[in-house]
Amino acid sequence: MPNPDAHSEVPNSTVMPMESVAAGVEGLRITFVNVYGVRTASGSWVLVDTGLPFSAGLIRTWGERHFGGPPQSILLTHGHFDHVSGAADLAQAWGVPLYAHPLEFPYLTGKKEYPPPNLEPGGGLMTALSPMYPRGPVDLSRWLRPLATGPGAEDVTPLPGWEIVHSPGHTPGHVSLFRPADLTLLVGDAFCTTKPESFFEAAIAQEPELHGPPAYFTADPQQAARSIRLLANLHPRVLAPGHGRPLAGAEVQDRLAQLAVQYAGEPGRGMEPGPNLAAA
Ligand SMILES: [Zn+2]
Ligand SMILES: [Zn+2]
Repeated sequence: MPNPDAHSEVPNSTVMPMESVAAGVEGLRITFVNVYGVRTASGSWVLVDTGLPFSAGLIRTWGERHFGGPPQSILLTHGHFDHVSGAADLAQAWGVPLYAHPLEFPYLTGKKEYPPPNLEPGGGLMTALSPMYPRGPVDLSRWLRPLATGPGAEDVTPLPGWEIVHSPGHTPGHVSLFRPADLTLLVGDAFCTTKPESFFEAAIAQEPELHGPPAYFTADPQQAARSIRLLANLHPRVLAPGHGRPLAGAEVQDRLAQLAVQYAGEPGRGMEPGPNLAAA
């Protein structure tokens, strides 16, 4: 049984500023969620994820200022509201397509809702609030295009030089993005670099720690554990998560390997509920 409380501490020295996560990669944090811009070889760029409701204006201004104009496309790691809420406005304003994994389409085309949040693991303010989060359905069909994964996909990816890694578990069609040239990994919500149940506290003061995906919204923890293992096996040196701060350095791959083992761990280990739930 996966252990949602598994975590692996990472030295503070690995924390990267959002403005320079890796070559051509910049991030923007809006409250507790990050979006990223990734420059392409052709000089254009791709926006990865679109943040919370009412974030579209901020993301648009930031992106155009930092990358010199609209992106060529938008890529969604998955369909949770904190990653897709700006998608319709941005796709409309920029006139660009939205790419997502086909298994995520039912949640992005108004056909299906995500399962209700799992309130047992974790604890903390975010978990207590999670029944109030919108679970969809959003309908982005007008702009949506399927992301190709696997062999041959490089030819049609909206982001040449990056592998689209299907990393399900948090959601069925969750993807991460990996650039073999410098071992940079955009992880979406496959795992976090902060304790996911306390994103708001984490915004003020946080020691970097690798954690599994936000437990209250992770549909299939066992599959999520396999995905963390898969990502650890890429031996990334730069981690750019949807939640938490970007990290870089030789240590991160060891700590991620550690998380992969711990997250997949035995039942009963570290499963006590968090202390914050009653207070929240
Ligand atoms: Zn998510
Ligand atoms: Zn998220």
